[in-house]
Amino acid sequence: MIEVKPGVGAPTMGGVINAVLLDIDDTLVDTRGAFRHALMEVAAEYLDAGADPELVLAHWRDDRGGWYRAHTRGELTHREQRMRRANDLHAAFGGPSMDDAAYDVWDEGFERHFRAGWLAFDDAAELLDELDARGVPYGAVSNADSAYQVLKLSSVGLQRVPMLVGVDTFGVGKPDPRVFLEGCRLLAVEPGVTAYVGDEPDIDAGGARDAGLTGVWLDRPGTRRAGHHEAAEGTLRIESLADLTALMG
Ligand SMILES: [Mg+2]
Repeated sequence: MIEVKPGVGAPTMGGVINAVLLDIDDTLVDTRGAFRHALMEVAAEYLDAGADPELVLAHWRDDRGGWYRAHTRGELTHREQRMRRANDLHAAFGGPSMDDAAYDVWDEGFERHFRAGWLAFDDAAELLDELDARGVPYGAVSNADSAYQVLKLSSVGLQRVPMLVGVDTFGVGKPDPRVFLEGCRLLAVEPGVTAYVGDEPDIDAGGARDAGLTGVWLDRPGTRRAGHHEAAEGTLRIESLADLTALMG
């Protein structure tokens, strides 16, 4: 049994945590860095020579068309959302409009460079060591495909994290409460004593809170997406996974 102490922006939070559910992308794995790696290759091949790498990366991650979110609502396939995002990116930075055949070639290169960039954050294994030492059960709940995430976790050395729920489990993702509750069910723990940690304050921390878990926003310095300015009410905010351990007392 571990006491949760109030975190930044959530002075009234309190309770007990004895299980942890984890987001994968930009929480355990530096997906932003991998996208940067892939997008630099794309920029060199397809975009205006003067395209600012930071703006290209921000454009991709912000997904202002909301295509990835539509995918997690079950409205678009993974391919459909990524092709729309690729064409949006090209429209913004001088690349050609792509039909299906052109996109297939684009995506082969993008995916290869994206995978080559996968790397775990240094604090990920340290957190898992700590949870293992304390006997706190944990697992992943992600808005990507389960098999793909198993491959990703394995390739960054985090195969000990059980992949519990993906966007394929119910055909929808966070913030739908079902995915958080299914994670708890699979760990055989109650939502009220479970924390969910993710890098998005709304769909991760806010969604977990709405499902009855303790929602924790991992706000890594310098990595915010557009629109992510503050912790949702009734959630906690931390700046590294090491802070989660401190939060747990
Ligand atoms: Mg994430």
